[in-house]
Amino acid sequence: MCPQITMRYLGAHVSTAGGVDQAPLRAKEIQANTCQIFVKNNNQWLAKQPLAQDEIEKFFENKKACGVEIIFSHAGYLINLASPDRTNNALSLKSFAQEMERAIALNLDFVVLHPGAHVGTGMQKGIERIAQNLRRVLEKFPDRKTWLLLETTAGQGTSVGHRFEQLGAIMDWVKDIPRVGICLDTCHVFAAGCDFRTPEGYKKMWKEFDAAIGLKKLKVIHLNDSKQELGSRVDRHEHIGRGKIGPEGFRLLMRDKRLAKIPMVLETPKEDNAVKYDTFNLKKLLSYCL
Ligand code: MN
Ligand code: MN
Ligand code: ZN
Repeated sequence: MCPQITMRYLGAHVSTAGGVDQAPLRAKEIQANTCQIFVKNNNQWLAKQPLAQDEIEKFFENKKACGVEIIFSHAGYLINLASPDRTNNALSLKSFAQEMERAIALNLDFVVLHPGAHVGTGMQKGIERIAQNLRRVLEKFPDRKTWLLLETTAGQGTSVGHRFEQLGAIMDWVKDIPRVGICLDTCHVFAAGCDFRTPEGYKKMWKEFDAAIGLKKLKVIHLNDSKQELGSRVDRHEHIGRGKIGPEGFRLLMRDKRLAKIPMVLETPKEDNAVKYDTFNLKKLLSYCL
């Protein structure tokens, strides 16, 4: 029943401590053919220097040697393309452009970005600013093969993107720009109120996704269980099967043939041992396939 394990793209967010070239080695340690990385410090606006040429070359070498097929980045956490503040907006644009530049230099498949927070100015205004700012930056990279993916959010604070319609609206504004898609985070959609723990709920979620955004736009899934309740709008990741989502939701996901080719990565807690816990969570996911 389950799509074959070998044809999947499955992995985790891995550390780039010591250089981005170290990431494929870490993916291999957990027997992953897919991983997500940061291409700069995720809590700083800007990297001081561009990636060094030898680091880039080593990255390609290691990627090949380790058999890691798909690598993508997660953009920094400070970026807010929905910000009404001029200074914050300017910094966000600069930082996001740098994220794209670095990802493109590494020939990454995707850059995952949090859409932003409207900070009290209203959802519609937030959506429009995100769309405008996406256009501003993405137009600088017309030939990129790297996709930009907007991530579904849990709906904390004034964040945009906790309803599929909000993401659909942004996508609509930028529909003339190629290679813009969606990353769905299981913890976030659950915290935002999607109950996909039953076959009916699971079906409903994708029906709504397809209607608001289009299934074709889905490019990546973040696999995280949730420490917080359904609809809590609080974003706290938990080990797979141990949170409020539990095994059933993930079983439905892993057995869904439509998703068999979608790259999936863990962003679950690493605790004191990333290899141990990522391996534990990946094994659990694969066990749901059987
Ligand atoms: Mn994220
Ligand atoms: Mn995520
Ligand atoms: Zn999250």
